[in-house]
Amino acid sequence: MSLRDLPSVDRLLSASETEELIASYGRPLTLQALRESLESARLGIQQGQDPPDEADLISGTRATLQGWLIPSLLPVINGTGVIIHTNLGRAPLSGPARRAVSEVAAGYSTLEYDLPRGVRGSRDVHVEHLLVRLAGAESALVVNNNAAAILLALTVLAHEKEVLVSRTQLIEIGGGFRIPQIMEQSGATLREVGTTNRTHLRDFEEAVTDNTALILRVHHSNFKIVGFATEPSLEELIGVGRKHGLPVLDDLGSGSFLDTAQFGLGHEPMVQESVRAGGRLITFSGDKLVGGPQAGILVGEKALIDQIRQHPMARAVRADKMCLAGLAATLSHYLMDEATDAIPVWRMIAASEDQLRRRAEEWRQQLGAGEVMPGRSTVGGGSLPEETLPTSLLALDVPHPNAFAGRLRKADPPIISRVENDRVMIDPRTVLPDQEGRLLSGLRAALDE
Ligand SMILES: *Cc1c(COP(=O)(O)O)cnc(C)c1O
Repeated sequence: MSLRDLPSVDRLLSASETEELIASYGRPLTLQALRESLESARLGIQQGQDPPDEADLISGTRATLQGWLIPSLLPVINGTGVIIHTNLGRAPLSGPARRAVSEVAAGYSTLEYDLPRGVRGSRDVHVEHLLVRLAGAESALVVNNNAAAILLALTVLAHEKEVLVSRTQLIEIGGGFRIPQIMEQSGATLREVGTTNRTHLRDFEEAVTDNTALILRVHHSNFKIVGFATEPSLEELIGVGRKHGLPVLDDLGSGSFLDTAQFGLGHEPMVQESVRAGGRLITFSGDKLVGGPQAGILVGEKALIDQIRQHPMARAVRADKMCLAGLAATLSHYLMDEATDAIPVWRMIAASEDQLRRRAEEWRQQLGAGEVMPGRSTVGGGSLPEETLPTSLLALDVPHPNAFAGRLRKADPPIISRVENDRVMIDPRTVLPDQEGRLLSGLRAALDE
């Protein structure tokens, strides 16, 4: 066998099956894929393999093209019961938020255009008034995410100065977000205060120097310190700050506009509470308990927010039009007192045990398989560590649960389940109502396989 047995690129290009590939994928990409197929055939022949025939080469090329273009960012069905699942894209958007995103995405918009005056405007106006009203703060700014909000605030307010942080709060959130590192990036010097389990107000008092610019408080989003432990309250820190003319930057992590305690959960810090306590600068995420698109939100004193807004780094981490549209629509739900009905993460948190049991029972009946059993859902997204909500799970007792879960991940859309006690579990809490049909057909197909 020799390389001469291989067809030429031109020959493959003029084959009738190739026309179909060109029609689907365009000529330049098809040509690249054909060349790759021929190249790997050549390598194969040099290693003693038989040369592929023309049909093999073209079907290999089709697979290559499919592989190049298949999207990897896909919608999935979240059957895990983790409501704010960072790996699965955090908060699903409400209908109005989705429509707002889609409308600004499809065309031109007033992103930076002052409509009444017909002149250049500011992208900051679209969400700020909603945040100001909701949080009761003087001013607000939206950036790319909360990590960016903190980096920006530290850079603007504490570059080449010291920032006091309790050793109980030197946290890693996950995904590489660590307080000491973000501090280094901002050019601020981290001044650790107190001990791992106990930090007192007097530790802060004693740490203040002429070079102190800021006190940082970080919410223990994803862990708990139990036992012999204490740290100053926000009010106390604000008191120290006021005495020395230092702002307190309060990183709430998730931040919430509703009280999670009314749903049988622990109390996640609320944005309004920090403002009321006298917080001068508060940051939180748009896509955790706020339930909107990825964003970092800063609220607080106008003078501080304006200083941050005007810094060149603010331009580098600004929010885009789709984020602003989705966030404005999401925040409107809170103002209209419809958040627990309209915002998916709150609807999931508020779902009653009865509702969940009925859905799991309905699935069991439709499938004619599985068992409904009590379980626990979690909020996730680095909020309310150790806190769970009672739910009902559809539990499938299958021979190889991990392999079965793998088959579910190959469904269209992929179904993400949880394997516990050798069973595959689906939690109805995080399955969106309009996904139920596809969930059941995916489960049926996996059970029949
Ligand atoms: C999640 C979290 C962050 C990071 O927020 P992103 O929006 O993911 O950038 C920062 N701080 C705390 C305390 C968090 O919980």
